Amino acid sequence: MTDTPSYLFYQSRNPRPFLDHGEGIYLIDESGKRYIDGSSGAMVSNIGHSNPRVLAKMKAQMDKATFGYRLHFRTHPSEDLAAKTVAMTPDGLDRVFFVSGGSEAVESAVKLARQYALTQGHNARYKVISRFPSYHGCTFGALDLTGYAPLRDPFAPMMSEMPKVAAPTTYLDRDNLTEEARGLKYADLLRDKILAEGPDTVLAFIMEPVGGASTGALVAPDSYYGRIREICDEFGVLLIYDEVMTGAGRTGRFLAAEHWGITPDIVSMSKGFGAGYAPLGAMVAGRRLVDPVLDAGGFAHGFTYAGNPLACAAGLAVLEEMEAHDLIGNAARMGDVLMSELRALMDRYPFIGDVRGKGLLTAFEFASDRTTMEPLDPALNAHDRLVELAYERGLIIYSRRTRGGTKGDHFLVAPPLIITEHQIAEMMAILRDALDAFASEIGLPVES
Ligand code: PMP
Repeated sequence: MTDTPSYLFYQSRNPRPFLDHGEGIYLIDESGKRYIDGSSGAMVSNIGHSNPRVLAKMKAQMDKATFGYRLHFRTHPSEDLAAKTVAMTPDGLDRVFFVSGGSEAVESAVKLARQYALTQGHNARYKVISRFPSYHGCTFGALDLTGYAPLRDPFAPMMSEMPKVAAPTTYLDRDNLTEEARGLKYADLLRDKILAEGPDTVLAFIMEPVGGASTGALVAPDSYYGRIREICDEFGVLLIYDEVMTGAGRTGRFLAAEHWGITPDIVSMSKGFGAGYAPLGAMVAGRRLVDPVLDAGGFAHGFTYAGNPLACAAGLAVLEEMEAHDLIGNAARMGDVLMSELRALMDRYPFIGDVRGKGLLTAFEFASDRTTMEPLDPALNAHDRLVELAYERGLIIYSRRTRGGTKGDHFLVAPPLIITEHQIAEMMAILRDALDAFASEIGLPVES
């Protein structure tokens, strides 16, 4: 750590040490202190840190060419990564467009949808319905779709306010419905919204199949997913899955969509797709959408760094690593272990109100009362405090205020997909220690 003022102004409430290096699921700072990367950074480092095989493949590409502009050359890394991506995604998703991050992947999806609609003569279709809470990125287009008040509010007058429907936060509901009925109830909000907006004006619906930063690993009842697909089909609305966080194996399938047998029309991915080895993302769609756009003159969109050979070589090496070591299978198996460990925390800590997730995208949420899910006093800043107590003890987890950023505290636990059962035990021991410290600091009861 240093007191030297930094020219950087990233937002961090607490001074952070300099990172020295990474080793698998661990990060080591300059003083030699080790941290378990229990959130894979921001759900990025899916294959762990400093993987020597990935680094060797990147080095081999660096020795040849780090950049070749895509309009001047085809490159093997980008063609091969596209082919591998198509092979790993469900049938019907067979065209890939590379980008350098999640917001870019989301904006690319929306722009492809719009251009496709124009080729069909549907010029009036421009509204993209999204959910509240949600997170789709911080650039203006992606932010317009994002349902997270603290990030939107400063820029509200500069956006078009795309229509929103409630995300299926069924863990907060106190009705007498079955889970299946609840799923259908939330899905039908989309139908109502499409009818209210005018079906001929609605271009697409975008959703995170498992929620991320804004909702804390929110999983809808199974019935939700199929019903959403039906509603989109009924009105010719394109279904976009934002799999920036869930894609590339995080939930125990390559795409989270596969858990429910859904084929979205367009998928955006990033985070685990480059896994921290390169800024990389992808928008994947079917020929059905892409060909008419190409025939009509091409996709009026693209970023300078898109598909650069170094980032694609990294991405290809990451997918090869996932395949060679069955990391997606490991995410499913270790996800079950982690989920039962997190559920067990509820016996000891009455202030944990809910535990949820899929594969290795898991979360727990605090509540002062489990039956009402009333949050802890916001003045406690619990989402910050627990993260600090864990950090001091050598565990990194990721937290946000929940409910669209307005109240409540949730914590994402999403370690690299290479994690072992033994390492989960190591991580949970630190987490319990941090929770004990949190409880005693605030004076909250703990069951023995
Ligand atoms: N969509 C989702 C679901 C995300 O989780 C994120 C990042 N948290 C984004 C989009 C934006 O990605 P990026 O920060 O790489 O632009």
